[in-house]
Amino acid sequence: MSIVVENITKMYGSQKALNNISFEVKKPEIVGFLGPNGAGKSTMMKILTTYIPATSGNATVNDFNVITQEKLVQTSIGYLPEHNPLHLELYVKEYLAYNASIYNVDKNRINEVIELTGLTPECHKKIGQLSKGYRQRVGLANALLHNPDVLILDEPTTGLDPNQLIDIRNLIKTIGKEKTVFLSTHIMQEVEAMCDRVIIINKGEIVANKSLDALRKGQDQVVIVEFDYRVEDAFLLKLPNVTKVKNTHDFIYEITFNTQKDMRSYVFDFAHDNELKILQLNQKNASLESMFRALTN
Ligand code: ADP
Ligand code: MG
Repeated sequence: MSIVVENITKMYGSQKALNNISFEVKKPEIVGFLGPNGAGKSTMMKILTTYIPATSGNATVNDFNVITQEKLVQTSIGYLPEHNPLHLELYVKEYLAYNASIYNVDKNRINEVIELTGLTPECHKKIGQLSKGYRQRVGLANALLHNPDVLILDEPTTGLDPNQLIDIRNLIKTIGKEKTVFLSTHIMQEVEAMCDRVIIINKGEIVANKSLDALRKGQDQVVIVEFDYRVEDAFLLKLPNVTKVKNTHDFIYEITFNTQKDMRSYVFDFAHDNELKILQLNQKNASLESMFRALTN
């Protein structure tokens, strides 16, 4: 296992930022750590990277304990912090060379990571002259310098414009083919675009831990139907497997069902039995986005 977290609790004074959380990440896998602001994502990542200790519980990275084998954990991990502290006055190569010397990394590796992260066209510039997207690449290049097995990326795509977003997502996906990537985000689409699995955290507790495939399969189904007449919500709520009815416009209703069986035929029979005409009838899967909102309120 690349990452094992067992019953981690973190208190900041009297505030509980993490409440007894456990999960595992295997290699190679891209796992999204998804949660609204303040959920505890950065806190968990700082514990894994040995920046802060947990109040209780255990965690290992590459089977090394984050408390008793701090140095070995640090060499196993590449970390891109939420607020990536880059030195704006340094040239890209200068910055990477400086960090390479700290890590005792071979100088040839600098050019390797520059190429790997697509920094070549900008590598002669000062970091302060780079766009946010390229600064993130410098952060990623830096995290990859010592060729770690595990990458921990705290909100790597926040603040990027749509083009930069696509580039960085692709880069992370490429890296994730060989390495374990544990990345945090507060945006569901980021998870859909990059991850094999998602761990959803809310108020310091894990509310879901599922593969994206499983999530898609378990999704709610929404049937959108337009009748020729008004129908009381209470009638529609009597349909089997129904979880929600919403009158969106005149005689148009959005009915949410908690089943994978196509429910259109039931709605059709319902209309027939009640002498209603159907003017339109569509079915779609509820988005992961709406599911995330429901899980985290
Ligand atoms: P996220 O990264 O998911 O936005 P954080 O892990 O940064 O969440 O924060 C979780 C909670 O812990 C928040 O309520 C935050 O205000 C609190 N917190 C984070 N760091 C500190 C700290 N150093 N001291 C006190 N409270 C903190
Ligand atoms: Mg954070």
